[in-house]
Amino acid sequence: MSNVRPGNPGATRACPHCRETILESAGVCPACRHYLRFDAGAAASPAPAITPMRIEGGIRHPADGEPWEYTVVVTIRNDRGEEVARKLIGVGVLSANEQCTFALSVEAVTARGKRPGKSGTRH
Ligand SMILES: [Zn+2]
Repeated sequence: MSNVRPGNPGATRACPHCRETILESAGVCPACRHYLRFDAGAAASPAPAITPMRIEGGIRHPADGEPWEYTVVVTIRNDRGEEVARKLIGVGVLSANEQCTFALSVEAVTARGKRPGKSGTRH
């Protein structure tokens, strides 16, 4: 969970379906893909999402040898190189000659009408 105040860019909440931490502004949970609200205003003018980063790659186990156990971890670092999130995505096993593909995408939307850091406490 972030400590951003509700209504500000980056504010989060828990998905009522899967309990993942998601953006407060999300209309569809990116984890379980359930619809979260039927906000007429949001539906009429959805902010266009862009994907500024997407990487995909696969590994194939050699045709011989012992199975490989794998662990997929994703980390997020801020501008100062500090780790702000670290998540275990999944684990599994690859047997001889098996292949697995991994894809990571970062989606972004404009936080329209919101101002970062606006708290109302400064004059
Ligand atoms: Zn969910």
